[in-house]
Amino acid sequence: MVEKLIDWRNYHEDPLFLLNFPQKEMLLPHHFDELGDAVRKDDRERIKSIVRDIHFSMNPHPAGQLKYNVPTIDGVKLKGIQHKYHETVLVFPKRGQTCHAYCTFCFRWPQFTGYSELKMGLSDIKVLLEYLKCHPEVTDILFTGGDPLVIKTKGLEEFILPVIESELPGLQNIRIGTRVLTYWPNRFLTDDDSAELLHLFRRIVRSGKHLAIMAHFNHPRELETEEVQEAIARIRETGAEIRTQSPVLRNINDDPDIWVQMWHRQVELGCIPYYMFIVRDTGAQHYFGIPLVEAFEIFRDAYRRVSGLARTVRGPSMSATPGKVMITGTPEIYGEKVISLTMIQARNPEWVLRPFFANYDEDALWIDDLSPAFGKDYFFFEDPDIEFEYFIKRLIR
Ligand SMILES: *Cc1c(COP(=O)(O)O)cnc(C)c1O
Ligand code: SF4
Repeated sequence: MVEKLIDWRNYHEDPLFLLNFPQKEMLLPHHFDELGDAVRKDDRERIKSIVRDIHFSMNPHPAGQLKYNVPTIDGVKLKGIQHKYHETVLVFPKRGQTCHAYCTFCFRWPQFTGYSELKMGLSDIKVLLEYLKCHPEVTDILFTGGDPLVIKTKGLEEFILPVIESELPGLQNIRIGTRVLTYWPNRFLTDDDSAELLHLFRRIVRSGKHLAIMAHFNHPRELETEEVQEAIARIRETGAEIRTQSPVLRNINDDPDIWVQMWHRQVELGCIPYYMFIVRDTGAQHYFGIPLVEAFEIFRDAYRRVSGLARTVRGPSMSATPGKVMITGTPEIYGEKVISLTMIQARNPEWVLRPFFANYDEDALWIDDLSPAFGKDYFFFEDPDIEFEYFIKRLIR
């Protein structure tokens, strides 16, 4: 499919080309030079060690995901599960930790490296079921990756059927995060188990659960092939919803027109725009990153030009350690220009939709680059008293 998506006459500037083929500039210049030198000398050991150094310099697990999000049963860490927000558990099925293509901006890139200490992967579904039985507050399971839809239907059934059959107390929604609609829409059309996959979707829906396909699209062109349109139609026939998400990426979609086109097309095809993300502080952030203020302007310019059916989109937001932090504006308050922010998801639900303010900074790429406005020493969620209160509450819950 990638071949069809790229405009080969002008490939060196083509967004779909840049999304799939690494460019020199995606490495920092000193990394590129060092690696180039080792490659020229064909020094295998040095290449390996430089690559490893580069990987570890790129913040492989942003937002504290291995430190704070991995749940435990009786003190044992549950590998391949993350539980950050009360309602939703993320599951990384082991066989789904690969993709149809590897995006150059991927924030899950450590899943595809050789270092087992960086990888997440769940192979035994019983562990998940046991965890969920003790956590009735969980309404949503999000299967993610990599891409869970690289797994054959039989393998998916092994994961999903026990979940819907075991009558978990709070479970309402099954979500599957995927990029298969872009890279391999034939998954729903011509694969030897396409019909079974659609049948599995129908079974989930008939069991009374809401099934949401969380589809990742970065550019309107990904929605133009006949295959993707047919695949979307077939998924929708099963009763599943398709919600869409994308980061706002330099060199790929840093233009409000692109977002207007993308959201228009998505709504037209029956998909629901869901998230616009800020590029995370991992991987080639220096290449793809867009300052928060500029990202907000792109968002606002696009949002203003679409109907309410596309304004379901949430963002632009940073998946940061305390929560999903959304930029809501750049107002001037009593003569001081600031960036206003709020959390649409938070580790502590009490933090949700509480406005807060940072000093205006046109270059800031991430929450760590921001400083609290109005002379404060810390943002409210960094307040040691509040933090303490929160952890005590969790302990006694
Ligand atoms: C975004 C996210 C979710 C889902 O949040 P929703 O607001 O329900 O879409 C769950 N867990 C993690 C770690 C997330 O980053
Ligand atoms: S499809 Fe998603 S997980 Fe896979 S490489 Fe692309 S961004 Fe990463």
